[in-house]
This record gives sequence, structure tokens and C-alpha cells, in this order.
Amino acid sequence: MKDNPPTAEVKLIPPRRRGECYQWQVLSCPYCGCKHLHGAGGELEDLGHRVAHCLKQSPDNNGYMLVWEAADRKKRLAEIAGTEADATCDEAASVP
Ligand SMILES: [Zn+2]
Repeated sequence: MKDNPPTAEVKLIPPRRRGECYQWQVLSCPYCGCKHLHGAGGELEDLGHRVAHCLKQSPDNNGYMLVWEAADRKKRLAEIAGTEADATCDEAASVP
């Protein structure tokens, strides 16, 4: 069993087109310093552990726990509450 993974702050990226999912953007990966994107299906509050999408993988790479940046969380939740849009990804949704 590896050590507990580090945390990584994320922002929520809204879908650019119909039928796409919300995504989490890691602002600065604890392993490579890059930004990584992760799909945000299901409950937005349920972030959890992700495998780091680093170009260079190392044995020390244990993934990370996503943490929603406080200011972005407040802003996005207010936006989502103000729309009829379903914030979660609907697998059955058809893209026109
Ligand atoms: Zn990385």
C-alpha cells in the first residue's frame, strides 16, 4: 500500500457543447506542475481520488485527491443553481 496521495486544487470547467460533461481542471499537478483535466460525472461534490494524467509517469506517482478551490466552488454552484441545466453528464443525451 502506497502513502496517501497529495491533494490537488481544481476548478470546474463547464461543458463547451451540448452533451459534453463538466470537467475538473487541476490547476497545478503536484507531480509535474501541469494542468490536467478529469471528467466530472455524477455528483459534483464527490471529487475523490484520481490518477494523475502526467506525460511522464514515475513510481512515486500515486495520483491525487481533488479539492475544489473555494472561490470557484461558490461561483459555480451559484451558476448551476441559477440554470435549468443538468450539471451531471447524461449518458443517454444525444448531441444534435
Ligand atoms: Zn501531472
